[in-house]
Amino acid sequence: MTVLCEVCHSYPATAFGYFQNRETGEARWKLVCCCVSYIEDYYIDFSAFTEDPVSWISHLMEKRWFNKVDFLNTLHRAGLETTPSTL
Ligand SMILES: [Zn+2]
Repeated sequence: MTVLCEVCHSYPATAFGYFQNRETGEARWKLVCCCVSYIEDYYIDFSAFTEDPVSWISHLMEKRWFNKVDFLNTLHRAGLETTPSTL
């Protein structure tokens, strides 16, 4: 399944990118391609994530800023239904 990058809308998304607005504090996960390299606050390649989703999620859960609902919605948009049953 191919999903377009949610930032440039031109290329297939290859990763999850996390963006935080410094002024409002609002933060969102987006599906991204390489167009946002160095702009995003956090970045996970789809291939790295799908290899070991359980470890990634538990790693993310340790972060103060992690929003699980937003991340799971983003997973869903990516068509990556490999959501660990432990969630
Ligand atoms: Zn892009």
